[in-house]
Amino acid sequence: MEFRDLNRQYRKLHTSINERIAEVISSAHFISGEPVTILEQALAEYVGTRHCISCGNGTDAITIALMAYGVGVGDAVFVPDFTFFSSGECPAGVGAVPVFVDVRRDTYNMDVSSLEKAIEHVKAEGRLKPRAVVTVDLFGLPAEYDVIRSVCDRYGLLLLEDGAQGFGGRIGKQKCCSFGDISTTSFFPAKPLGCYGDGGAVFTDDDKIAALCRSIAVHGKNADDKYDNVRLGMNSRLDTLQAAILIPKLRAFREYELEAVNQAAERYTELLSDIEGLRLPVMPDGYYSSWAQYTVQIPDGTDRDAVQRRMKEAGIPTMVYYKKPMHRQGAFYGTRSGEADCPVTEDICDKVLCLPIHPYLEAGEIEVVAQELRKALW
Ligand SMILES: *Cc1c(COP(=O)(O)O)cnc(C)c1O
Repeated sequence: MEFRDLNRQYRKLHTSINERIAEVISSAHFISGEPVTILEQALAEYVGTRHCISCGNGTDAITIALMAYGVGVGDAVFVPDFTFFSSGECPAGVGAVPVFVDVRRDTYNMDVSSLEKAIEHVKAEGRLKPRAVVTVDLFGLPAEYDVIRSVCDRYGLLLLEDGAQGFGGRIGKQKCCSFGDISTTSFFPAKPLGCYGDGGAVFTDDDKIAALCRSIAVHGKNADDKYDNVRLGMNSRLDTLQAAILIPKLRAFREYELEAVNQAAERYTELLSDIEGLRLPVMPDGYYSSWAQYTVQIPDGTDRDAVQRRMKEAGIPTMVYYKKPMHRQGAFYGTRSGEADCPVTEDICDKVLCLPIHPYLEAGEIEVVAQELRKALW
């Protein structure tokens, strides 16, 4: 069994993917070819924003978004302590200070009371200007946008949604990657919508910010003259090949993959719900996840390494996202970012365990995983 089986998807989609790859190669437009524009329009339409600007990867997307708003030295950017490194790496990379905020034990997403506490603390310290909140739709579940939005409005903060794992998730009818003033996603192969290499995108409704992002992604170019560089930027583009691959993949994602992965998650929840002390993912009312991961918390006092070893012996791969709170990462050691009060993150880092999940996982396989987890916990 594979943790995320990308081969099964390819077997199903290979005709259309291969055709599109061949088209790009014979067109010889490898950078900024027509498929890039077609994909950007399809993504913006799906997510429900005015603009989508594709770029090299999900990390660059966050950096481009921060640069477009001029976030930098002297700014505090509030980031969940429980996330992939990029969410905090990018604010630090533009010269701002990531201030890590605790998450909720049930949804793994930013805890709003911890956010407000951190903002007040930074204000009281008086050294940094509270500037932005980076929310993460962790494991595919949208963050608590109604309350986070009101906190951002109250303190005048930019809301940047890191939707690298959230693409396809929604609250009611509103989709992930449309909740931020500016939002980003990643097309890394294992994400809900993945390409065959690196890729990412920025989403916004703001025409001026969209134009800035386009400029920043291509060496700070002038809107109509590539060789007139009006600001410092970067070289971050989505390859035409990756865009061409994403077009049929987006169609499959919309037509059945998102639904299939939700069914897989529901089945896990049914099969595992009676295991004592095991915490299963929680779906708040009206929330819909894209299930980038199906993450459980093993009971108190369980040896997670032993559980993973037993699962592996039974042929079942598991992963731990994430083992270490952001504020404890070596890169932040001894800096302001290393100071954080995040007891929930500290605790869940020792308990989380991610089970294989993807749209092509079969019912029988889900049963085997559930059975083996039950045995491994015993
Ligand atoms: C994967 C991921 C990123 C980075 O995306 P890349 O395309 O790998 O650069 C950023 N944030 C989160 C939460 C992620 O999971």
